[in-house]
Amino acid sequence: MSEQQDVIIIGGGGAGLTAALYTSRAKLSTILFEKLAPGGQIALTDVVENYPGFPEGITGPEISMKMEEQAKKYGTQMAYEEIKSIQKTGEIFEIKTASRSYRARSVILACGASFRMLNVPREKELTGKGVSYCATCDGAFFKGREIIVVGGGDSALQEGLFLTRFATKVSIIHRRDKLRASPILQERAKAAPQIQFIWDSVVEAIQGDKKVEGVKLKNLKTGETTDFKTDGVFIFIGHDPNTAFIKGFVQMDDHGYVTTDPQLRTSLPGVFAAGEIRAGAVKQLVAAAGEGCEAALQAQAYLDH
Ligand code: NAP
Repeated sequence: MSEQQDVIIIGGGGAGLTAALYTSRAKLSTILFEKLAPGGQIALTDVVENYPGFPEGITGPEISMKMEEQAKKYGTQMAYEEIKSIQKTGEIFEIKTASRSYRARSVILACGASFRMLNVPREKELTGKGVSYCATCDGAFFKGREIIVVGGGDSALQEGLFLTRFATKVSIIHRRDKLRASPILQERAKAAPQIQFIWDSVVEAIQGDKKVEGVKLKNLKTGETTDFKTDGVFIFIGHDPNTAFIKGFVQMDDHGYVTTDPQLRTSLPGVFAAGEIRAGAVKQLVAAAGEGCEAALQAQAYLDH
């Protein structure tokens, strides 16, 4: 059993790393748990253009590494482990990973959300063989190829635009005839010669034996299905919160997002939530960072009490 921490932060995305920066600078002993790499979803993003202070943009991996470096500079301990369970006994939280237990006086939940799957036939089997959820990770494998992108939000358009660096043709498949994405991304995508839109359509199945060869598309307006040849399927249809391991620990909404009051306090005293895990969060890096700051200051006030 390790010594007791003032704050344990779960999740190393923009919210968690900012919270860690603030708690560490407040001289609160802080461990931040992250199961993958620092940055969370941002680490998988090609370029961040809307974080103030970087007029030329900054790559996702670069801002992630810098945020981690800054938190560590002031004393944050990083623990690259997955949390299995968490419980409160008296005033103390006990957090268990596969190999050990940790104790803390307060907890900041910042574990974000994970990409959603289509849940269609052959999707699982062909993941890594033409099906991908990360353009920056896999885009380069599709040089000179034709691919599809599924979704109509900011992620689908931003990543679709990135993929035009490699693919000769990017078909964006959207289930409606109106995009959810921000106007600036819509404008850019519509102007890109390699991008075409296929409206009112969903992917019903992915085809291919050892690798992706095509998809079965259904037009939701006409009901017509067609076989569409493609070398790659990039799926960007939103996210689900990473809250399975804290079910029953704090209150959540019907979709599994953690509910908080305006001070980011959850239903359990001493537990705060920040970033995309939180119901009502706007899901932007700058907002996640702001919420990380708020949660850290509220945790500090709670501990001072
Ligand atoms: P999103 O905004 O929730 O959009 C998901 C898209 O996928 C929607 O167009 C949705 O269609 C479609 N969709 C959902 N389930 C589907 C299904 N089962 N089959 C087919 N299509 C499906 O998700 P996101 O694009 O990942 O963005 C998440 C958040 O991050 C947003 O708040 C976004 O603004 C933010 N973000 C911002 C930036 C940026 O600022 N540059 C970049 C990336 C993400 P409908 O439209 O019909 O619902």
